[in-house]
Amino acid sequence: MRIKADTGVCVGSGQCVLTQPAIFDQDDDGIVTLLTDRPDDETAAQARAAVALCPTRALSIVQE
Ligand code: SF4
Repeated sequence: MRIKADTGVCVGSGQCVLTQPAIFDQDDDGIVTLLTDRPDDETAAQARAAVALCPTRALSIVQE
């Protein structure tokens, strides 16, 4: 699986970072950045949770 982040839609609420800080971070403006776009098995479940929690649907999962 791969995570995609649409920075044009992100409003910087930070839920993703709180949910899975090993994958998500925020830049100086609060906009999401990805530390990796391919979660390992240990972080995949929380990555999915973070995608579901994003209030603006800026995050999505691509199945490959
Ligand atoms: S939860 Fe969504 S809106 Fe909030 S910082 Fe993360 S990507 Fe941006």
